[in-house]
Amino acid sequence: MRVLLVEDDKMIGAAVLEALKDAAYAVDWVRNGDLAIEAIHSETYDIALLDLGLPLIDGLEVLKRVRAERVRLPVIVLTARDALSDRVAGLDLGADDYLVKPFEIGELLARMRAVLRREGSGTPPVLTNGRLCLDPATREATFSGEKAVLSAREFALVQALLMRPGAILSRGELERQIYGWTEEVESNAVEFLIHAVRKKLGAIAIRNVRGVGWMVDRPTC
Ligand code: CA
Repeated sequence: MRVLLVEDDKMIGAAVLEALKDAAYAVDWVRNGDLAIEAIHSETYDIALLDLGLPLIDGLEVLKRVRAERVRLPVIVLTARDALSDRVAGLDLGADDYLVKPFEIGELLARMRAVLRREGSGTPPVLTNGRLCLDPATREATFSGEKAVLSAREFALVQALLMRPGAILSRGELERQIYGWTEEVESNAVEFLIHAVRKKLGAIAIRNVRGVGWMVDRPTC
């Protein structure tokens, strides 16, 4: 899952970025409103975390433009402003949730999961196609009796496949779900992750469609 983080404060931004990467999200971090709008136009995100006090274009203005363009993007506003009027303005402009700084990272992650669930496109509490199961809260995967805790990237890979069971995902699509812009991706990184997951869960947990990509089976019922 890909997240756009819009935050001009270096310390907060770096801390949130690390926590999101640990939680298996691919993250793009921008530090002003102009770049946020550019990013939203050039990438498809599952969710955006938006600070309000931003250089160039203010966060509320970013939100207003995004909603005016009818871009379907869940937005959680992160802000030091806790004035009621700002909160109301943010929600009126179409923010999906609101978190006042300072916040606990655990709360941010829980709210992101809740917003993504409401959105319908996001992770249900446990993802499964009947045989392969994935629990986002513990990062634990099970396949035909084999149980393993996955690394953040292994989790992101399996999650991307399980969100579209039966669909073949290319290397590029998988990379988009696993890595942010600034992360260097080795040419065989996806193969390496697939290999690691198969080693933990069994070779047939993920199917290889030669020359096209990878998939997990469609639910059987
Ligand atoms: Ca700020």
